[in-house]
Amino acid sequence: MLYSLNDHGLAAPSRRALLLAALACGTTAAVRAQAQGSAAVFPRAAAVPGGVARVDLGAAPARPQAFAGDAPLLVLGDPIVWTALVGIPLSATPGEARIRVRGTEGERDIAYTITPKRYTEQHLKVSPRTVDLAPEDLARHERERAHQQGVIATFSALPVGSLRMQQPCTGRRSSSFGLRRFFNGQPRNPHSGMDIAAPTGTPVVAPLPGTVIDTGDYFFNGHTVWLDHGGGLLSMMCHLSRIDCKVGDRLAVGQRLGAVGATGRVTGPHLHWTISLNRASVDPALFIDA
Ligand SMILES: [Zn+2]
Repeated sequence: MLYSLNDHGLAAPSRRALLLAALACGTTAAVRAQAQGSAAVFPRAAAVPGGVARVDLGAAPARPQAFAGDAPLLVLGDPIVWTALVGIPLSATPGEARIRVRGTEGERDIAYTITPKRYTEQHLKVSPRTVDLAPEDLARHERERAHQQGVIATFSALPVGSLRMQQPCTGRRSSSFGLRRFFNGQPRNPHSGMDIAAPTGTPVVAPLPGTVIDTGDYFFNGHTVWLDHGGGLLSMMCHLSRIDCKVGDRLAVGQRLGAVGATGRVTGPHLHWTISLNRASVDPALFIDA
C-alpha cells in the first residue's frame, strides 16, 4: 500500500522499505539502526494558521537544522528522510511560506503552502470594566508577557519517541482553539489553546514527558506550569488550583503536575492547555490520539 508523506501522518513506508533494503546492502550498521529506530509518531498535519506543517527535507547523512524566521524548528527522522515540523501561528497569512534549511551542503529555502482556515467568531457585549485593565494590572501583564516570551523561546534537546500526547486531565474538551473573540466590537487575541472542563481539584498530568521550565501565578493565566518536551515543543497549563511540581522537575507522561482550578481571569474551573511549537501556539487536538 502506498501512503503519501503529507496526507495521513505516516512516513511513506514503501519508499522507506525500499531505501532500507538498499541501505542494508551497503551502509554501516549504525546508519541502519538509526534509520530503523526513529519511527517518530508525528502530530496530525494541518498546514493552516494554528496548525502544524510537515515539511520534507529529503535525505541527508546528518540531521539538518531548519528555521522559521529566527525560530529553530523541530526536525525528526533519519538519513532516509528528515522532516521539519513547523508550528504555524494563528496570525499567519495563508499562501506560500518558507523555511530555511542548513545542512552540510549549505543553506536553502523550502517553500510550503499555508491553506486558509476560518475559525469561529464570538461577539460578546461586556461591561467596559472587564475589558479595560487598571494601569497597575496592565503594567503587571506587560511584565508577565515579556517573561513569557523568554519561556516560549526555550529550545532544548529533541524529544525521543512519539509526539502523540495524552489528554492532560479528564473532562470534556472544547473545540474553541482559534476562536476569535470580540468584546464590544473590539477584536481580542484569538483563543490560543484547548479548554478542558473539569471540577476544581481534578489532577493535571504531563501529556508527554517533559521538564518543568516555569511556574508562577500570572494575571490572566493564574497558577501556571510550563513543560518543555524538547525541540521547541512546550505545553502550558493554566488556571490551576495548585501546583505540585517545581522548575527543574523531569516528569514522565501521566505524572501529576497540579490540579484544575479557576485562578487568573476565568469564569469557572477548567484547564487551559496551550501547545507551543517553534514559538507558535498550535491546536492541541492535533497531538491527541483520536
Ligand atoms: Zn482557554
